[in-house]
Parts: sequence; C-alpha cells; structure tokens
Amino acid sequence: MAVFLALPFSVLRRGVKDCMFLAMLFAGAMPVLADYSICGEKPTIYLDIGHTAKMPGAKSARGKPEYLFNDRLVREISTSLKKERKFDVKIINSSGKNISLKQRSKSVRAIETGILASIHHDSVQRKYLKNWTVQGKKRRYSDRFQGYSLFISGSAPSFKESRKLAESLGAQLKQAGMHPSLHHAEAIPGEGRPLLDASIGLYNFYRLAILKKTRIPAVLIEVGIIVDRSEELMLETPRFRKTFIEAFTRGVNSYCGLH
Ligand SMILES: [Zn+2]
Repeated sequence: MAVFLALPFSVLRRGVKDCMFLAMLFAGAMPVLADYSICGEKPTIYLDIGHTAKMPGAKSARGKPEYLFNDRLVREISTSLKKERKFDVKIINSSGKNISLKQRSKSVRAIETGILASIHHDSVQRKYLKNWTVQGKKRRYSDRFQGYSLFISGSAPSFKESRKLAESLGAQLKQAGMHPSLHHAEAIPGEGRPLLDASIGLYNFYRLAILKKTRIPAVLIEVGIIVDRSEELMLETPRFRKTFIEAFTRGVNSYCGLH
C-alpha cells in the first residue's frame, strides 16, 4: 500500500487499466493496487434502486410493492454514507422515472470507476405462496424462507473484484447477526443458482441483466424476504435498517481499505 500511496493521485485515478500496468511493475502487490485504484481516496458508491414505481418487483405479504422497500433503503444508505464524508454517493434513477431494465443496465455499464450496489427485497417461487387475508384483502405469503442473498455475475469483467466486495459485505452482514437464505440454490425451475460461498449467501447469477457487463465491482443485494410475514415486519423497522446500513458501510470501508 505504501508504495502506491507515494504515487501521484492523478495516476491512481486513471483506473484499473493503468493500474494493471503498474501492478506489472510492482509484481506481487496486485490485490492492494486493484482495491486502491478502484476506490481511490474518495470512492464513488453507486446505489441502484431495484425496479421502478411502475414495475415495482415483488409484493410483500401485506401487499406492499418491493420498489418502496428498495427506494427507502437506498435513500437511507445514501444519507448515511454522505455523513461519513469518505464517499461520493450517486443514486441511479433517483427521480424514480419509469426507465426500462435495459436502460438501467446500459447506464450501469457506462460507469468506469466506483462501486455499485443494487438494492432489492426478495420473494420465493410461486409454488411456496399461500393465501391469507390482511385488512380485508387477499394476499400471498410464504413463511418458508428468511434471510439475505448476495449476487454477482460471472460474466461481468469486474467479476473478481465483485467477489471481493461481496465477500467483504457478506462478512459484515453476518457479523451484524444477519443470516443468508440459500433458497435460490434449490434445484427447482426458476432457482438453481450456483453458490459461490454458502456461508455468506453469495451466488453467481451469470446472466443477471443489471450486473452482467459491469466494469466496476458490483453486487446485487436481496436484503430480506418480504413475502415472509415476520421478516417483512422486521425489514420495516428503523432498527433493522440501521443495523444493515452500518454493516454495509463497514463492508465497503473494509473492501476499500478505509477505516
Ligand atoms: Zn427485485
């Protein structure tokens, strides 16, 4: 690290490509170099709000659209990270426009430096859903699975760095008392995602649209399962979200070597 801190910051900001060259000059220091070149002195954290208001994703056990969970948490993460003053924070599709997944993926693909976290809340396969009535309305729920999941894409140029970022995040989420859900690995239609590390709920989702061509380290986080009736209530509490945000922040800090 010390060797690279001695280099002009402008050199380090030129990105991974230049740093690959520098790494060749300083053989053996590659892992530190890669982290530093990506994060720089003040990393930019891109936060992607999963889905849009008009295409809101899953529906919770009590009928609340996933997008509202994603939007609220992204804004809370952003506020918290900005207070740290160590990061630049940018929210993708902050205005909530009804842009397509294709457009969102395209804008993510264009980003050359920084880190990306796509924030989602999870559901389960339809066969596990049951009916119940909430405030006079029929809703669908499943109390079968709980927990978070982390996805990275094996087809992304940034796969190796994404894995390091995901491992750092996963370690902190676990340390904060959260546990991973492994239901996406089940060998049934719609699932069967390969697990890279079951202990932290890290999956390889090869063709995941938002991540499959990212050039920067990128992780999609399913924060919890909103069709689970207890987990939905937990995800709604400020206390849980504070715990998640603190763990997320520690994970990014640790990945970037900022303490
Ligand atoms: Zn989603």
